[in-house]
Amino acid sequence: KQLSSAQIRQMYLDFFKSKGHEVMQSAPLVPHDDPTLLWINSGVATMKKFFDGSVVPDNPRITSSQKSIRTNDIENVGHTARHHTLFEMLGNFSVGDYFKEEAITWAWELLTSPKWFGMDPDKLYVTVYPKDTEAKRIWLEEVKLPKDHIYEVEDNFWDIGEGPSGPDSEIFYDRGQKFNNLSEDDPESYPGGENERYLEIWNIVFSEFNHKPDGTYEPLPHKNIDTGMGLERVVSVFQNARTNFETDLFLPLIKKAEELGNGVKYGDSPATDVSFKVVADHIRAVTFAIGDGALPSNEGRGYVIRRLIRRAVMHGQKLGIDKAFLYLLVPIVGQIMKSHYPEVLEQSEYIAKVVRMEEDRFNETLKDGLQLLNEMIADAKEKGSNKLSGKLAFKLYDTYGFPFELTTEYVQEQNFTVDEAEFDEQMKQQKERARAARSNAKSMGVQNGLLTDIKTESKYVGYEKLVTVGTLKD
Ligand code: ATP
Ligand code: MG
Ligand code: MG
Ligand code: MG
Repeated sequence: KQLSSAQIRQMYLDFFKSKGHEVMQSAPLVPHDDPTLLWINSGVATMKKFFDGSVVPDNPRITSSQKSIRTNDIENVGHTARHHTLFEMLGNFSVGDYFKEEAITWAWELLTSPKWFGMDPDKLYVTVYPKDTEAKRIWLEEVKLPKDHIYEVEDNFWDIGEGPSGPDSEIFYDRGQKFNNLSEDDPESYPGGENERYLEIWNIVFSEFNHKPDGTYEPLPHKNIDTGMGLERVVSVFQNARTNFETDLFLPLIKKAEELGNGVKYGDSPATDVSFKVVADHIRAVTFAIGDGALPSNEGRGYVIRRLIRRAVMHGQKLGIDKAFLYLLVPIVGQIMKSHYPEVLEQSEYIAKVVRMEEDRFNETLKDGLQLLNEMIADAKEKGSNKLSGKLAFKLYDTYGFPFELTTEYVQEQNFTVDEAEFDEQMKQQKERARAARSNAKSMGVQNGLLTDIKTESKYVGYEKLVTVGTLKD
């Protein structure tokens, strides 16, 4: 079935409406009353008050398409088929109402019923938490999923550091070996592994615990269901796209970037394709974030927006675009998203103005900064080195506005590294100078955005992925 992204989003909401859910509007990206989060990064981030029992919803069954930003995925954008900074998370939630049985069997019905998504069941795989024998039983006995489509994965435990948590079950779509970046017998080539064949489309969380600030897990007053399906990923399946970017959610943006560039086309080379993808991704995030009241700045959320704009501008340069251009993409984002987010198109003039100002500001120094950087690279090469000093990176940051990551990314292409310790030292010294300068001023109590970012990692990373294949007992 070839459906549009707007139809797919609507179909998800209609399905859960038919199961007694109330359709809830997407909450703004800027969290209210939640100091633990820099951005709303999932549907459940807006449900905490219901899950912890502090607020009782009118209807315990809720469904939504929640705009979400994940800064921990910035570096994946353009390099994987499936990651964005801003994406939409389709979700259904049960606040102490239905639990595992309905959550799993309804998910299966939506995905495979010809009346709804109508996906081929043979292409679907699931993972479960090894200790969660109940979820496994439901998949096997009620859904009648063959056992070689079920994998036990140790890290299937949803935990955002604080708040609702519990075991989860994830659903993967097998796109076929031709989409895989790994060989078929690579140990990572299984549903849940770091590969591009098995696409994680949906995570169903059985939320039973409250992860308390002191690190303990306390059973929640009632058990909840929280699910998250990436709209862009499901659209890529429907539209038979190589990556999320070859869908109606991104292609108009890519097309516009092609028009603005020096003739390079999407598909010409892997490197320029990354640039097209980064531009299309980042302008969506920036547009939505500004629409929700955030502004570019040097701290916290504002710094994220600034970084995204600067990163997109630098990738625009690689496509031969050397003047302000991102602001021209803002109304296109508005057009693409207008059926569910009409407010973006309505505000697009204001948003474009903010973006343009930030682009102009950066462009003023970008050329000089790049020239200096290129000179230093040439210099180092002459001396037989492939390392840039942290002092230079700091000068680029301080005088020319290059975020450190941008400098690193830029030189990486030439196999250069940057002395990060030295950069950090320079930063520290500057902060000390600044602190001394305002020692008499009142404490500003500003959140350290980067630290907050780390805390909001949506999923525990750094684990050893343990997978047990075919150990299910029948
Ligand atoms: P992945 O392993 O692919 O990074 P995840 O396990 O981190 O995804 P979850 O936290 O389980 O993702 O979020 C629920 C769903 O939201 C995922 O199954 C996926 O469909 C979607 N999703 C998560 N992160 C992104 C992203 N950066 N861009 C687009 N979709 C995403
Ligand atoms: Mg995952
Ligand atoms: Mg997941
Ligand atoms: Mg992830």
